Amino acid sequence: MSDPFKLTAALDERKSNHLYRQRRILESAQGAEVIVDGKPYLNFCSNDYLGLANHPDVIAAFTSSANDFGVGSGASHLVCGHSSLHHQLEEELADFVGRDRAVLFSTGYMANLGVVNALMGKQDAVFEDKLNHASLLDAGLLSGARFQRFLHNDLDNLESRLKKSTDNKKLIVVDSVFSMDGDLAPLDNLAALAKKYNAGLMADDAHGFGVLGNAGAGCADHFNLDQQQLPVLMGTLGKGLGSFGAFVAGSEDLAETLIQFSRSYIYTTALPPAVAAASLASLKIVREDADRRQHLYSLITHFRQGAEQLGLELMPSITAIQPLMIGSNEKAIAISDALLEKGFLISAIRPPTVPANSARLRITLSAAHSEDQVDSLLKALAEVML
Ligand SMILES: *Cc1c(COP(=O)(O)O)cnc(C)c1O
Repeated sequence: MSDPFKLTAALDERKSNHLYRQRRILESAQGAEVIVDGKPYLNFCSNDYLGLANHPDVIAAFTSSANDFGVGSGASHLVCGHSSLHHQLEEELADFVGRDRAVLFSTGYMANLGVVNALMGKQDAVFEDKLNHASLLDAGLLSGARFQRFLHNDLDNLESRLKKSTDNKKLIVVDSVFSMDGDLAPLDNLAALAKKYNAGLMADDAHGFGVLGNAGAGCADHFNLDQQQLPVLMGTLGKGLGSFGAFVAGSEDLAETLIQFSRSYIYTTALPPAVAAASLASLKIVREDADRRQHLYSLITHFRQGAEQLGLELMPSITAIQPLMIGSNEKAIAISDALLEKGFLISAIRPPTVPANSARLRITLSAAHSEDQVDSLLKALAEVML
């Protein structure tokens, strides 16, 4: 058979390196318990940190607005797809994160591409943490700006790069919560550096929004950073909020710049209005029900204490992302398979998602879990890892 793209060789190489990916087919809603292949599993790998993806109020908002607004938005935001539900969601998001404006994007990936590309060009420089999410790295590369990656959370390394830069505009870009490690970027110190070198600062709060901070408003809330200090705040709605979509929040001028110039905003269909309504319902729960967040944080503490007692090596994370470092791809898969056998769904994260030799089990906790379920996870980990 002809193979002009040399697909077989590339796929075979992936397999032999234990890097081949396979999709599991879910037969239930997201939740602490999910059905795969007709069997129930305890789910410790979703990003539904607050257990809102299948919440009755969120479902009700979705279905009732689908009755009023239909399914498809019909057009991009700039043509005739921007509904009153989208608009209300933008206003409530901006209010929640303490910014002048928020602009909705269809996904977080598109928001990242859209904002970096609207702000930065050939004469400019983008500085990104080595462990940033792939969408931010792609955004930096696509922008055509001089692209630099600094060592993970290393302020000295970043500062020496900023000092040398003679580029026109400078933008520092980080994950607020690193998606595969769970640790936080030092946003307060980064804001100080940005100020010192007259650079912009952008945080991707995909794993912080809804979860971090006293009010759950995310990284800006946790570090108490206003719009001057953290001018570009991107958040997603498909993780902690259990819905779908993303937003970029900041000044009036930032919002208008995105609407005028952001290609991944302009040239795509607006997300369904019913999805915006679902996000509004989630946002209401996040704002009114601090108990969910409290429960999640008590589970995080409980898990870390239990893992420590077992002698498992934890990573420095205060968030719902609690990875266990394994190292080899093969071993990570073997452990993930052994856990599956015991009824636990936890994915082995391998390169290129993480650096070589740092395959890990990415355990995530959710407010949907009970303490008993976390205890049973600890027991299973002890059996397969020790
Ligand atoms: C998931 C994720 C994204 C992408 O968001 P989507 O809405 O899923 O496209 C961006 N950044 C980070 C850090 C993420 O974890």
